[in-house]
Amino acid sequence: MAIVTPLESAPGARRRLALANPATLEPIGEIEVQAADDVRAAVMKARETQPEWAASSFDMRATVIRRALRILLDRQDEFIDLILSETGKARSEALQMEIYAACDSLNYYARRAGKILKPRRERLHGMFSLLKQLHVVYRPLGVVGVISPWNGPFILAINPCIQALMAGNAVILKPSEVTPFSGKLVGDLFDAAELPAGLLQVMLGDGETGAELTRAGVDKISFTGSVATGREVAVACAEQLIPCTLELGGKDAMIVCGDADLDNAAGGAVAGAFMNTGQYCCGTERVYVVNSVADEFTRRVVERTQRLRQGAGGEFDVGAVFWPRQLEIIQEHVADAIEKGAKILCGGRRTPSLPGLFYEPTVLIDVHHDMQIMSDETFGPILPIMRVDDEETAIRMANDSDYGLGANVWTTNREKGIAMARRLESGSVCVNDMTMTYGLQEAPFGGVKQSGIGQVNGETGLKGYCHATPILVDRFGGRQTASRYPYTHEKDEGIRRFMRLQWGTALGRRLS
Ligand code: NAD
Repeated sequence: MAIVTPLESAPGARRRLALANPATLEPIGEIEVQAADDVRAAVMKARETQPEWAASSFDMRATVIRRALRILLDRQDEFIDLILSETGKARSEALQMEIYAACDSLNYYARRAGKILKPRRERLHGMFSLLKQLHVVYRPLGVVGVISPWNGPFILAINPCIQALMAGNAVILKPSEVTPFSGKLVGDLFDAAELPAGLLQVMLGDGETGAELTRAGVDKISFTGSVATGREVAVACAEQLIPCTLELGGKDAMIVCGDADLDNAAGGAVAGAFMNTGQYCCGTERVYVVNSVADEFTRRVVERTQRLRQGAGGEFDVGAVFWPRQLEIIQEHVADAIEKGAKILCGGRRTPSLPGLFYEPTVLIDVHHDMQIMSDETFGPILPIMRVDDEETAIRMANDSDYGLGANVWTTNREKGIAMARRLESGSVCVNDMTMTYGLQEAPFGGVKQSGIGQVNGETGLKGYCHATPILVDRFGGRQTASRYPYTHEKDEGIRRFMRLQWGTALGRRLS
């Protein structure tokens, strides 16, 4: 996070929150928490401007989005500096995870949304094809509420906004109170790109503002965050009878097979566990390695982990923990593991040489499933490694979780990797990778089990911001419907004969 502290406010005034840089602990500003009236006013304004945007062409929308892309390319350092001041993450991570990914998303949807959402004519089956024509058009939902978390504060805010806007919606974005300024950057970017006023409004605030947004009369909520909040959002959306997508937490498992390239697997484990200081929804949170290669794999992991440079400012690999609550969870999970018999091979404490919220990259062994470190989302720079007898056991252990967001399998046998991937209870699975799951727009992204409902990104994501409306046209000007009455035994007999012809013979079944 930034570190968030409530400030005194005058009676009747909006609440205020002060923010500090988690790496340096220096103050970086304050925000006013927007209340119910602010959120409702924003939704009303969005409703006024959305119809004109919905009526505009995809080319016109893409022009604005491309303008945003050019501005982001030009001003990337300014954006990165702001993201770093709130998160204390490594500069390369802000560049890759936030800016590169946002540029890719802007360009991807500007180029493809028109094609994906183009009205299409659908061929009907059987006899219906002689009587009717079906057109499917994708109509925007109206006003979409986007509620985003702090761990990818710019990309997780902007990516759904780009998709919802290209689909013709207006958006109200409520970024995390832990990283509000990175969320506000999304609004600043689209203002600079001359997106018509009211189409993207950013509401700063905490959970109360988010809850108000779910009740403010929007047409969909696109939520990314924790399981606990996701459940509350789902209930609120059910009460409003509006759809939602819930992209929630994970406890991603990594399986290292006996035939894995151990150097690549060790590198993958280290990247998976420590990228974004472990605060990555698809971060590797538990490793199952088969006995035959466990010692060598673990040795290489520790060696690589000890080479990681941690710091604030300048060139380093692992940044800060973004806010104090997360640091507490990490410390709780490690303490629970140690008490129950886990061994620390490296790390295992707050980084003594740095003043901010830093925790050393940590490797644990002798872990088991009764430890929080193996069952609950830790969201920190901790890599617990568990030995298993064989790959079957690894699959069983990986599936023994309430979460199902991502997973990864490491093997030199690609076919085996894909076969194992198909057996993992997970929203997505990588073979010999883990970093790219959210970043590839073609891959529908979403969790199973407690990790979420619905999917985002690509064709699935774009269509999720629309109502697919079938438009059915009678080829004969309505003659068949007009002659419906009177019902007679003779007409019924004709239908029965037709049914026998259609489904009672092999030829009939094939033609229909
Ligand atoms: P969080 O649930 O605490 O907060 C997320 C957002 O919800 C914030 O903007 C917050 O202000 C808002 N909020 C809080 N209470 C609310 C309510 N009652 N109604 C509406 N909005 C409310 O999550 P977080 O701590 O910011 O984010 C970390 C979590 O997000 C982790 O569990 C992580 O795994 C998950 N995550 C998931 C994905 C994914 O794509 N599946 C991606 C990134 C992060």
